[in-house]
Amino acid sequence: MKWDVSFETKCQAVDMGLLDQYHAISFPIYQTATFSRHKLGETSGFDYSRQTNPTRSQLEAVAAGLENAEHAVAFSSGMSAIGGVINLFDAGSHIITDIDLYGGSPRLFNEVFSRYGIEFTTVDMAHEDVTKYFKENTVALYAETPTNPMMRVIDISKLSDAVKGTDIKLIIDNTFLSPYLQNPLELGADIVLHSGTKFLCGHHDTIGGLVMLNDDKICERLRRIVTTTGVAMAPFDSWLLLRGIRTLALRMERAESNAQRIAEYLKGSPYVKRTLYPGLKDHEGYDIMIKQARGFGAMISFEVADRDFAEKVLNNLELFYFAESLGGTETLMTYPITQTHAELTPEMRERVGISDRLLRLSVGIEGVDDLIGELERVFKKAAS
Ligand SMILES: *Cc1c(COP(=O)(O)O)cnc(C)c1O
Repeated sequence: MKWDVSFETKCQAVDMGLLDQYHAISFPIYQTATFSRHKLGETSGFDYSRQTNPTRSQLEAVAAGLENAEHAVAFSSGMSAIGGVINLFDAGSHIITDIDLYGGSPRLFNEVFSRYGIEFTTVDMAHEDVTKYFKENTVALYAETPTNPMMRVIDISKLSDAVKGTDIKLIIDNTFLSPYLQNPLELGADIVLHSGTKFLCGHHDTIGGLVMLNDDKICERLRRIVTTTGVAMAPFDSWLLLRGIRTLALRMERAESNAQRIAEYLKGSPYVKRTLYPGLKDHEGYDIMIKQARGFGAMISFEVADRDFAEKVLNNLELFYFAESLGGTETLMTYPITQTHAELTPEMRERVGISDRLLRLSVGIEGVDDLIGELERVFKKAAS
């Protein structure tokens, strides 16, 4: 399905999916495990909620629209979405991933899937030619852009060109920019993933994952994996996602404009050694961002002088929350080395540059002067 209306309008879910039988504007939460049949051989279209549920189907229809995709499949978490996608591949397959991913992803690859005979190679996709690593059994390329937490930018079209004419699938985790700012399927990706927990939900009140794709056959296989392994999104969580998506465009717009101001502030601050935000003109990936995205997002990483300074910043926060996760209405500060990326080996962290001087911000929709004031206050305190 492709809808010829603006992104903002699609977020309102107006007649995008199922019509509720009573025409409820807020799509009902079908909190039921099973559905009765009137007669043998008859079905309402819904039989058992592990397979399909109306609230989840409504979310999937709306979510597909956001990525201009034919299909969306909703999972219980971003991680189960990633797991579901990797489950498409057989033992003996080889997958090439970027070096800088959400910490849980390499853990899933190395601790679970490698035990089932899937082999992973990590490559610096922002700089290296991936085709050099192609093998006979290579089945997929897997990347995020901008990357977490180093904000490297990967050229999606370039990866898509690299797999053209092969059966290798290009998988992009689009969590950091959300579909409001970037649509990898339109740049040649085969499968797009989201941690729905982040910008799509937007309020830090549930966990969920989404996969968008155009290929009917792959989608059918993915739905079969969801049904068989039992990793679908629950009805109430689906409703929370539908509700969050209604304000996605507004939230992204505000969070991004706040982030741009904060990045410029950080860049000019004597307490900050390096600011990593792809919306800064001197960022290595700026030109690629201009080409493949409609904005730069609300995630910023930055480096301070040393671990002691970073600790003082974290221990003196008042307005920002010191927490993992991202994409909500309130600003969160994360310390990747002890939180999101704590389980990476020191070698893996060093390879991408995650140090004990690095802090990450998920910028919210608060008043931007308050956010800059908080940084100014906490930097002065840490320096004193
Ligand atoms: C959070 C996150 C995930 C994992 O999603 P969950 O919903 O926490 O399971 C995957 N990728 C990225 C980029 C993330 O930020």
